[in-house]
Amino acid sequence: MMRRARVILGAVALGFSAASGAQIAPKAGSDGAAKMVNAAPVPKATSSPARPKLVVVIVVDQMRADYIEKFRGQWTSGLKRLVEQGAWFHEAAYPYGATETCVGHATISTGALPAMSGIVANAWWDRESQKMTTCTADPKAKNVGYAGTAVKGGDSAWRLRVPAFADELRFQAGGATRVVTFSLKARASIMLGGHKADAATWFEGDGWVTSNVYGTLPFIEAYAKAHPVKEDYGRTWTLSLPQSAYFYDEKAAGAVPPGGWDLTFPHPLRGKSGGSEPDDAFYGQWAASPFADTYLTKLAETAIDQLGLGKGGGTDYLGVGYSSTDHVGHAFGPQSWEVQDMYVRLDKDLGELLKHLDAKVGAGNYVVALSADHGVVPTPESMAQTGADAGELHISDVQQKIEDTLKAFGYAAPAVARIASADVYFSPGIYDKLKTEPAALNAVLEAIRGVPGVAEVYRAEELTDRPSTKSPIRTAESDSFFPGRSGDLVIVPKPYWLGVSSPVGKPRDYGTGHGTPYYYDQRVPILLMGWGIQKGEYFGVATPADIAPTLAALCGITLSTHDGRVLSEALARKLTTAQPTTAH
Ligand SMILES: [Zn+2]
Repeated sequence: MMRRARVILGAVALGFSAASGAQIAPKAGSDGAAKMVNAAPVPKATSSPARPKLVVVIVVDQMRADYIEKFRGQWTSGLKRLVEQGAWFHEAAYPYGATETCVGHATISTGALPAMSGIVANAWWDRESQKMTTCTADPKAKNVGYAGTAVKGGDSAWRLRVPAFADELRFQAGGATRVVTFSLKARASIMLGGHKADAATWFEGDGWVTSNVYGTLPFIEAYAKAHPVKEDYGRTWTLSLPQSAYFYDEKAAGAVPPGGWDLTFPHPLRGKSGGSEPDDAFYGQWAASPFADTYLTKLAETAIDQLGLGKGGGTDYLGVGYSSTDHVGHAFGPQSWEVQDMYVRLDKDLGELLKHLDAKVGAGNYVVALSADHGVVPTPESMAQTGADAGELHISDVQQKIEDTLKAFGYAAPAVARIASADVYFSPGIYDKLKTEPAALNAVLEAIRGVPGVAEVYRAEELTDRPSTKSPIRTAESDSFFPGRSGDLVIVPKPYWLGVSSPVGKPRDYGTGHGTPYYYDQRVPILLMGWGIQKGEYFGVATPADIAPTLAALCGITLSTHDGRVLSEALARKLTTAQPTTAH
């Protein structure tokens, strides 16, 4: 585990929440914005604009950094171009422990680590309501379905405690900025778009959804109507390269395929029953297939065309969260033909997207940042084949051990309200009592440490306020600790041990996962290409929290708060060299 340097710039703007969401400039009203943009001095003798016309942020869910090293020889299009023509940060990694989707997207979009952004997990135990909440659940918002898609609940970025880069861009560039995001997942689309996206669109059930916080756009309605996802019913995912091109075993060890699929190609999208109409299993298969990536790509291209992204008065923002790579990775694990083939196909989709951007916005007028929200651990079975110490850490086992221990100290059951991710939440009043009874608390900690697969357990007090410590794991866990939202205790598994929710002896319902402070979950690609970027390979310390500050530097705006740094080594020389002014 590398210890990552952390640069803290700027003061923490606390109090930023839904209640104070008005700090973000309201949408639209392009008049003032146009004036601001026009008033900006235009440098002479330059063929490129003074700032990028469009910022494109692409997040590939669960893309390990070493997929580039392993698979790049098989790429011919978009990923190849980003690697060869862009700035490639080999050693980028999240510095924190909560390596989950919502957390990663929030970090990329804000430049703030979870200890500051408040986004500590995909879902956590809400102590007030004594229920689980997702990172985007908003009791005041109402979801809206495109093309008649059924919806429930409401989602927004109100739990994100800092402004996103896209919010700052809109605020500082004025109303001329359009912010549009797409993903299969609400948490990806919403976190990428920030508090006030013009459109944040995701997939739910059998169609596309947004919420009243963002409102609907007519072209998305038209696209959803013209291209219902069920049109992919009956298609088959086949290998795109000759069999000999694939690494690993044909049947991935420890894989748990989506319902209706087996362990070998081809994978037909025919649901569970193979009947004439799509069932729920079909939509699960679709989400875990390359066809969903292609659909998102087309949706993004349509947005570029219909909104004229990159042709407005300011800098526009397009965010795309590719989620299918995560579904495939959870099912089959990183050492599978399925994952390898997903990237062969994503390479082609991204090639199409970049070509489209070249044609519509102009090569050199836009900047692209590609990263991932987290990596992934190989399945315990494939690790065991190597002789490594690997296995399943049963969360139910941890919970039972805590209950048994506290029963002996006279505590009423259930003492544990919930274990969510790696966080233990005690029932109301229990943890406060435990803090006054060190013998009972120590017995609980020892009991947890005795569960197979547990490396360490931290108390909330050990992680609050990002303490200065020489323990890299404790530092990582404190970087993703947010008081009130994180657990009373935080469990750290041993390396290569997979946390599972199924009881001991019962099969788990997924192949593998992520969410630990280990490098295989933390290390992800950062690829930057286009306006203002100096191509090259960079091996210095970098984190995805550096993306937003870097984009802010390119766009000439100031982020109110962030943990990351500007990746100045990858900025074009004309940006880093002082320009002679015209006034002498
Ligand atoms: Zn995942």
